[in-house]
Formats: sequence, structure tokens, C-alpha cells
Amino acid sequence: MKLDNIEKAFRVLDETAQEIEKECKCTYLEAIAETAENIFHDQVLQPEISETTKRRLLNQYDAGNFLQFNKETIRKAYQLAILKGMKQNTQPNHQMTPDTIGLFVSYLVRKCIGDEKSFRILDPAVGTGNLLLTVQQQFEDKDIHSIGVDVDDLLVKLAYNGANLLEYSVELYNGDSIRPLFVDPVDIVVSDLPVGYYPDDVRAAEFEVKADEGHTYAHHLLIEQSVTHLKEGGYGIFIVPNSVFETEQAPLLNAYLKEHTYIQGLAALPMSLFKSEGAAKSVLIVQKKKEGLHAPKNALLVQLPKLSDGPAMQSILKQMDQWFREEKNK
Ligand code: SAM
Repeated sequence: MKLDNIEKAFRVLDETAQEIEKECKCTYLEAIAETAENIFHDQVLQPEISETTKRRLLNQYDAGNFLQFNKETIRKAYQLAILKGMKQNTQPNHQMTPDTIGLFVSYLVRKCIGDEKSFRILDPAVGTGNLLLTVQQQFEDKDIHSIGVDVDDLLVKLAYNGANLLEYSVELYNGDSIRPLFVDPVDIVVSDLPVGYYPDDVRAAEFEVKADEGHTYAHHLLIEQSVTHLKEGGYGIFIVPNSVFETEQAPLLNAYLKEHTYIQGLAALPMSLFKSEGAAKSVLIVQKKKEGLHAPKNALLVQLPKLSDGPAMQSILKQMDQWFREEKNK
């Protein structure tokens, strides 16, 4: 992948988005979604845009020949543009999942899915789609049915325009994943969960992880909702705060997971990925119970090194490969 191609692709998105931002009086992030939609449809779709700007945008799209870039270049350039937009005004809970985490999650998905030729995957907090699309890109050898849901309509718009540019088929819904989800059971859930309290206590009361007093954690509710939508024997791979099993509501989550799943493991992500210790996260892996399956002999508990530390990462992956081999062959 050539860096100058990513730069070229980014420049097309960036310069055209700035024009749209000015003329449509929207945010840069909204303009990125609009310009991506224009590129995909090969037309300027915003009625507010004057004829002169329209011609200029079409020239920029043509000269940049955006869709000739390969998928990885397009995904990286789109990601850079979204990151630039997010710097302006996005709350930390809505940040896109970085590729490094997406690639590690893809490794876990491959271990869980094994030789299956096709599978259904859901991300109930899909955001910009970066995590789901990173995973999807690692499985071009398989037939994947992807489904994403997010409560933020702009992020869903960025996700569907990203999927269009990459020519991936993804079923996307804009809505609250803690409300009833009309999604058929899936083989795997991957999600970088939003952390915080869910304000609707009436809805939360329908969940087993509901807090005895006050608001329930949204990430606990989303884990329960995900397990509900997993097929028996399906896997959930969740990015959660390191303290997930240490809070005052943790016993409720723990009891729920013990009742309905086999906890496979917890992999602490490297501290270098986070701004502070409090913001650090882990990857929780669970398997929904099914007759004939058993809990692992020992759960996988690892601390990942800096992902750029090749030898240390190789050694951890070797240990993890071994763990999966033993557990799958039991
Ligand atoms: N993986 C995503 C990506 O690569 O862009 C980022 C996910 S971000 C850490 C968490 C997401 O959860 C945000 O996009 C936020 O809008 C979404 N979210 C928060 N509460 C939600 C809810 N009740 N239902 C659905 N999505 C929700």
C-alpha cells in the first residue's frame, strides 16, 4: 500500500468536504459523509450546492479518480478524514475503533469461526463502521452477512457510505440497540461498547443485568442484548473497560455471563493505546452456552504488549494459538 495513494485519496475527500462544509453550512464530519455519497453515486447530491461548486466538485472527483484506489487505501483515507472530523467535536464514547484493535479482533474472530465458510456477524454499536469493516476486510475468503446498529444517525451515515466505497454489503440500522432488535440470530458479535449509564430504567428493568438501584451500565445491557441475539455456541467479542469485573454492578454481569455463556477469556489491550489508565480497555470473549459444549479448562488471560513490538506480540499470539487449539480439540 503506497502512502502517497492514501494521501491522494485523503486529499480528494478533505478538499471536497471543506467545500461542502462551507456551502451546506454543516460540520466537516457531515460533509465527509456527503462527499463519500457523491463519489459513490458519481453525482453531487446536495441541492444547496451552486452550479459552479457542483462542477468544481465533479472535476475534483474525476481528477482524483477515487474509486480506482484499492480497498485498503480507500478505508485508510476515509478513516483519516473521519478522525480529522472527530477531533473537532466528538465525545470519547463515540470514537472510532483503531485498526490495531480491529486487526486483533479479526484474529479472534478467525479463531472462533474456524473452518466455517460463511457466518453472520453483528456489531450493535457500529459507529463509523471501522471495526466491522476492518473485520470484514480480513475475511474476503468467506461469505459474511454483516449487520450494524448505532444510535447516532451521522455515524450510521458514515458507516454506510464507507461500506459503499469499499463495495461491502452491510445491513445497517439507526436505532438504540438496547430496545428490541429485529435481527435474526448471529454466529458472532463484535463490538467496541459505549461505556456509561443507560438512562431508561424502565427498559433496563427487562434485563437480567439491571442494577438494583439507579441506572444500569449501557455496556452491561449491550452485552446481554448481544448474547440474546447469538446462536447457541456463538461467540461475543467485546471491547470493555478494564474495570468491567470490578464495579458495583459487576456481580450482576458476572452472574448473567455464568448463567448464559462460557467466559473464554479477557485480553488486556496495551496501555499505549489509551490516554490514561482509567480509559484502558480489554477484549472480553464469551461463548453462548449450547448442549455438548463446556467451559474452557482455564480461561485465557493475557496482557497484550505494545502491538508494534513484533517479537513480544508473536510470542503472545503463539500462546493464544496454543490455547485455542487445546480448547477446540477438547
Ligand atoms: N466500533 C465503532 C467504530 O469503529 O466507529 C466505534 C464504537 S464507539 C466506541 C461506541 C458507539 O456506541 C458509538 O458510536 C455510539 O453512538 C454507540 N451507542 C451508544 N449507545 C448506544 C445504543 N444504546 N445503541 C446503539 N449504539 C449506541
